[in-house]
Amino acid sequence: MTKWTSILESSKTSLMKMESALFNTPELGFKEQKTRQIILDYLKEHQLSITKDYGLSGFRVTIGSGKPHVALIAEMDALIVHKHPNAGPDGAAHACGHHLQSTILTHVLTLFNEHESFDGSLSLYCIAAEEFVDLDYRLQLQADGQIKLLSGKQNLILMNAFDDVDAFLSVHTMGETLKPSMEINASLSGFIYKKLHFYGQAAHAAVMPHKGINALNAQLLTQQAFAYLRETFQEEDRIRLHLITTQGGESVNSVPAHTILEGYVRSINPDTLINLNARLNETAKHCALAMEARVEIEDRTGYMPLLQSRELSDLLLPHIKKVVPEANIVDHQKSFAAGDMGDLSLFKPTIQLGFSGCKGLVHGMDFRMDNVEEALVYPAYVLLSTLSDLYRDPSAFNALVQAYPVKMTCEEYTNMHAF
Ligand SMILES: [Zn+2]
Repeated sequence: MTKWTSILESSKTSLMKMESALFNTPELGFKEQKTRQIILDYLKEHQLSITKDYGLSGFRVTIGSGKPHVALIAEMDALIVHKHPNAGPDGAAHACGHHLQSTILTHVLTLFNEHESFDGSLSLYCIAAEEFVDLDYRLQLQADGQIKLLSGKQNLILMNAFDDVDAFLSVHTMGETLKPSMEINASLSGFIYKKLHFYGQAAHAAVMPHKGINALNAQLLTQQAFAYLRETFQEEDRIRLHLITTQGGESVNSVPAHTILEGYVRSINPDTLINLNARLNETAKHCALAMEARVEIEDRTGYMPLLQSRELSDLLLPHIKKVVPEANIVDHQKSFAAGDMGDLSLFKPTIQLGFSGCKGLVHGMDFRMDNVEEALVYPAYVLLSTLSDLYRDPSAFNALVQAYPVKMTCEEYTNMHAF
């Protein structure tokens, strides 16, 4: 039994109280005002308050000063599951367990502040809008200039909100598990949403098709060329390219003058995703040209792939083994799902520790916490114990921060989102 075991034992009531308050206050992204207040009230009871306010996108609370500087990343938003018993009037429900993250990480911050003396800084970021939902509302916020990109972390990156931190620690539910488990080093895919407009020339489809330019044929040729490109996709990049025709022409009697092809390209490898997207765009341009048509492409960069820092996970491992049997540690799963933790992992070492203790389908109508130890106490224990080690002897941490292969500069990131 370590110091954190007994401290967490006496914090269980507080953990459960916040879990319940947040679970019953589900709010969609960029609307988390009550959630924010619940967290701030709790922090106030522990003599802490906002260090930096990022408006709709979230806020930061920092303790200590100088280096090393670790960031705890908590997501505040819910998603839309109308039939969830705890759903709000707009259908918002905590069916992805983000309320658990906020509960765990705010407690990690306050407990570390109260029970550990350390050299360096620890920041808690409570961040809006991880789920890629409610897009009409977000596009309106974007049009009004209140946000620049559609997720909270993306906006914080553009605000340089993470410049002075060294690494990101986050936690996420593993969904329903039958036994106490934890997950490390899972990768998530990244995606780019694509909308290709093909433009040709209308003419009577029967009387004078020779006077027209067929924008549907240009689109079909592009789809065919994309199909030929598929043989160059490599297994380890886990590429998915899924497209649908959302406009095939205007009327059957007229040569199609405007058609639309929409879809996603996904990969688990950030370089592959960006390079492949550029190849697809080149292919579409040449196919359109071959048919004397033209194409206009709207790309909207979604989330980048999440590649976790194995070295950082290794620092957690001895503590994970104290709470779950070694056979129940899930390592290195690859998922086609996506999340904006991936964007953070472009810049600094990042981890997202998976924890058990929930029941029901993730994003489903029956998702809820089932076991307080597994879903709140264990992840808090692992993070607190790791932070104690890390600040006591930061050499291994500093080495992995220095060696981290940064995948992009903030400028490149900004340019990638310009469309
Ligand atoms: Zn989630």
